[in-house]
Amino acid sequence: MLSWQDAPWLKPVWQQLLQTEHRHAHALAIESQPGLGTEAMLQAYVAKRLCEGRERSDSSALACGSCPSCQWLAQHQHPDLRWVRPEALSLNESGEEGEADAKGKVAKPSNEIRIDQIRPLESFLQVASHRAGARIVWLEPAQTLNRPAANALLKMLEEPGDASLWILSTPRLSGLMPTIRSRCITVSVNPPPAKQAQAFLQQLLHEAACAKPHAAQYEPALLGLALGLSHHAPWRAKERLEAPLLAEQSRWLHALAQLPSGWFSQLASHWADCEALDWFELLERWVIDLLQARYLLDPIYFKAYAAAAQTRAGGLKLPQCFQIINRLLAMKSSLRHPLNPRLHAESALLHYAELVGQSG
Ligand SMILES: [Zn+2]
Repeated sequence: MLSWQDAPWLKPVWQQLLQTEHRHAHALAIESQPGLGTEAMLQAYVAKRLCEGRERSDSSALACGSCPSCQWLAQHQHPDLRWVRPEALSLNESGEEGEADAKGKVAKPSNEIRIDQIRPLESFLQVASHRAGARIVWLEPAQTLNRPAANALLKMLEEPGDASLWILSTPRLSGLMPTIRSRCITVSVNPPPAKQAQAFLQQLLHEAACAKPHAAQYEPALLGLALGLSHHAPWRAKERLEAPLLAEQSRWLHALAQLPSGWFSQLASHWADCEALDWFELLERWVIDLLQARYLLDPIYFKAYAAAAQTRAGGLKLPQCFQIINRLLAMKSSLRHPLNPRLHAESALLHYAELVGQSG
């Protein structure tokens, strides 16, 4: 089965991680989009740091998989590792509900990493490690640290213990406080170029098809759309291909590109009924491709729509289009909890109509 070790874009990153071990780094901040294999690579790195069975003289050796440390890790019970995530994410995966208070009310689980999750780490890092190796704290996703938690973390980063290692993983380093970032060795995982991403995705699909004889076949345009929406992250693109939303998004993209009669009201009613971020990510990237086309550059996201982007971009009037795009992008922050989904969808579509010269 294809693993992170087969991903060519992770090879230089792995080398960087090995070097940080030589430099006795106390804190790493890793920037990566989901679906690039980074999480599996970090798991292997953590396992390697904790493993007691591997040959220490061979710095590139992976964890042995059979020593007591590796076995604890496999059971998610390693005493020298803390994995800290927002409560909402942990509950989501375990399928549990939040804890009820004295009146039996279940509090809404937090989407942030809070200070009461960070404070106990101080004593965890101060006591000697259970297995004479490193003590590791993995914060994920690190941009969800709220301000008090980030300040508490900063204090601990200022006085790192001898054998402690912080791993902060995040899709964007800019989401971390600059004072925290400056105390970490930063490592960025660059997504593969389009061709490499597509080839890898095809290998993943081929593998899935071998395991399941009646696996679905996908049109090249749909592969391109899945990769475009996934920042060229092949594992994420594969998940998208397997979910029903992608076919819907493909129809939306077609409507935005071709503007068939009735496109506005059809899209408005579809978008009002679904998660706002699902249509927004598509619209945002398509508009970026239009700007690329306006400057005679290749599309970044949707290669199969290069010709349509060229045609549409002819209608873009600079510099008004930047104002419109800014208004459109400014909507993003309010999309998670829109009060009126239909209104949001329509106003985004109005901005788009104005952008491509179809208003009024
Ligand atoms: Zn081991």
